[in-house]
Amino acid sequence: MAMASDGLRRVAVFGATGSIGTSALDVIARHPARLRASVLAAGRNVDALVTLCVSHRPDHAVIADPQLLDTLAAALHAAGLGTTPHAGMAALDALAADDDACDTVVAAIVGAAGLDSTLAALRAGKRVLLANKESLVLAGELMLQAARAAGATIVPIDSEHNAIHQCLPADGDCSGVARIVLTASGGPFRGRSRDQLADITPTQAVAHPKWSMGPKISVDSATLMNKGLELIEAHHLFGMPADRLDVLVHPQSLVHSFVEFIDGSTLAQLGLPDMRTALAVGLGYPDRIASGVAGLDLLHHGRLDFEAPDTDAFPCLALARAALVAGGTAPALLNAANEVAVSAFLQGRLRFLAIPALVEHVLAALPAADAASLDVLRDADARARGVATQALTTGTFH
Ligand code: NAD
Ligand code: MG
Repeated sequence: MAMASDGLRRVAVFGATGSIGTSALDVIARHPARLRASVLAAGRNVDALVTLCVSHRPDHAVIADPQLLDTLAAALHAAGLGTTPHAGMAALDALAADDDACDTVVAAIVGAAGLDSTLAALRAGKRVLLANKESLVLAGELMLQAARAAGATIVPIDSEHNAIHQCLPADGDCSGVARIVLTASGGPFRGRSRDQLADITPTQAVAHPKWSMGPKISVDSATLMNKGLELIEAHHLFGMPADRLDVLVHPQSLVHSFVEFIDGSTLAQLGLPDMRTALAVGLGYPDRIASGVAGLDLLHHGRLDFEAPDTDAFPCLALARAALVAGGTAPALLNAANEVAVSAFLQGRLRFLAIPALVEHVLAALPAADAASLDVLRDADARARGVATQALTTGTFH
């Protein structure tokens, strides 16, 4: 990995305008002698991207939608910036791989759309701060293989996986681990029965009690699919089989996960629910750097509660666990169906309880096969989107 002559880490932030992206930029701006945002990339919001470029003065700015290149170029020029404009997903892949552009990539695009650029960064041996969990669910094995082959470093940014990363030995050796327990806030509807979930609106679902996040992951947290995706994520990142991965609901969201070792020790990482802590772990890695997040005052917080997840009211967790156990293309099918379902729910075209029903429908329609290659996984992703979209169009689910 090339190092800039000024000793600064040059960080590409993919998904810069999102919740994780802006938190990463907040931490980067606290360390001007150590970190520089060299590439900023967003999906469609040119105005928000240019505003970030004015503050962070990156070398490159990328807008995913190719039709917005001229708009981006004009806005950067009008702002008097020397930032080079780019458009299209291929530009992301090229910049991720370019040693002159960055040595660190914050993978914070939402959904399977983040897979290619994350893979490009891993194949180029970069330090990858991995927030984009859907890419791992879709193609975790291939991503880990690519990272090993190229000597890339993955620092998990999902708070639970970042917590586990902090509890494990520095070399990531899991041979002494008996079990990993992911904590879950339980989302905004914890304690409700299935019947009480019938009329949930998108506004209610995205109002998370503890974390401030983008709309897709907020809905995933409300259905508990987020915790299901995280089981699959943990399986890939830490090489743990499904029967050694558990979930414990912890409404205060202060304990970010547990690692139980074979000698009876359990280690946990605690902190306020603010993603800047996990991002600082990755941005400074292996050093500790300030994140802007205050330490934990347990006298003030008082108590830590734990309970079992309710898989009757929230069947997505069980669906994801079953996909993990089935293996092959099952997690890719699950993820794609869920992306279509959540998007339809956010648009008011699908009821909250129909999210798991639609995912189950897709998994029943498309039996899992061996995930022999990236092409097979991409094909599974596309087919699942097709079946889910078809079911929405025909009104089978609403
Ligand atoms: P968000 O919706 O706030 O931001 C998403 C970002 O991705 C935006 O910058 C958007 O412009 C960009 N984007 C969307 N579609 C794109 C596309 N097709 N091509 C290129 N860019 C695109 O989402 P978020 O909450 O920041 O989450 C980002 C990722 O991090 C998700 O995978 C999520 O599961 C994961 N994550 C988020 C949090 C959190 O606290 N927000 C915690 C853990 C994991
Ligand atoms: Mg998480």
